[in-house]
Amino acid sequence: MSWEKNVRKVVPYTPGEQPNRSNMIKLNTNECPYPPSPKVKEALKELDYEKFRLYPDPAAAMLTDALAEYYGLKNTEVFVGVGSDDVLAMAFMTFFNGTDPILFPDITYSFYDVWAELLKIPYKQVPLDDDFCIRIEDYMGKEPVGGIIFPNPNAPTGVLMDLESIEEIVKANPEIIVMVDEAYIDFGGVSALPLIQKYDNVLIIQTFSKSRAMAGMRIGYAMGNEKLIRYMNDVKFSFNSYTMNTPALVLGTAALQDEAYFKEIVGKIVATRERVKKELRELGFVFGDSKSNFIFASHPDYEAETLFQALREKDIYVRHFKGERIKDYLRITIGTDEEMDTLIGVLKNYIK
Ligand code: PMP
Repeated sequence: MSWEKNVRKVVPYTPGEQPNRSNMIKLNTNECPYPPSPKVKEALKELDYEKFRLYPDPAAAMLTDALAEYYGLKNTEVFVGVGSDDVLAMAFMTFFNGTDPILFPDITYSFYDVWAELLKIPYKQVPLDDDFCIRIEDYMGKEPVGGIIFPNPNAPTGVLMDLESIEEIVKANPEIIVMVDEAYIDFGGVSALPLIQKYDNVLIIQTFSKSRAMAGMRIGYAMGNEKLIRYMNDVKFSFNSYTMNTPALVLGTAALQDEAYFKEIVGKIVATRERVKKELRELGFVFGDSKSNFIFASHPDYEAETLFQALREKDIYVRHFKGERIKDYLRITIGTDEEMDTLIGVLKNYIK
């Protein structure tokens, strides 16, 4: 008999590599190429290290209140966590607790099946159509399901679903929770946030990691009906009361106070994305229309794995997934204009 029989055995999520050599070009984990707002820098200078002696506010009220004000919500409609990964994990634990399978797309954020396995939640992966779009008829409540989650725009495809389609899904499933993971919504999508005022079964999850340039601070949040947020807090306070550390609370709040900077960096990323789409097309790449801060592209004449290695040799990191339907694609994060010029230059030399 071995103690191993009682181990919770899981196949963990594989995060993108995080090398940080100074001259490399890192386009593999959808980070923002620009620094956080200068207001964050100021707030960082003013942080009093002596305060680290104390536990942070377990309710994270400073940040929760700031988010509520920003989105015009009550603070009881907002939940914050250690990146949206933490928020999503808490939401899975809270709401996906039934015996019917939860649904998510077959090509999507690869953490969903990991949490489902970890938490022993039955699940079904619903195939996207041939253009990598979600078919809403697959989510219309025809069979009993335990919940629904999808990112919008989807990752790693970048494809956006319109608000009307999301509302149809939410409306058709009043007895389960529908989670919309809006990690990339600020790069050209329409948020489903208004739906929380109309439906009590929809949860919106967002993050500071992409459009607010603060992946290293680990801040994510969920917005939904007060009752949903209360249930999430009950689970959170049964797991770890002090999830948000003091700097995250202060610096996250500061970031929200600089709307002009936020708009500026998002605008720059979107402009770069649109021109890179054109240049990649000229090189023969094919891809769906990304509304995200990355492009998920395939080349008919070159294996993605080969291109991935060729870029890597030049110290340019992009992401390649080995899944059957996506192994021919590279997910390329939008960096600065200069970084993208270098990437395009290397690809031009390679693809002759
Ligand atoms: N959702 C999606 C779709 C993502 O791509 C990511 C980034 N890996 C996350 C959530 C988690 O991001 P974070 O924990 O940094 O907020």
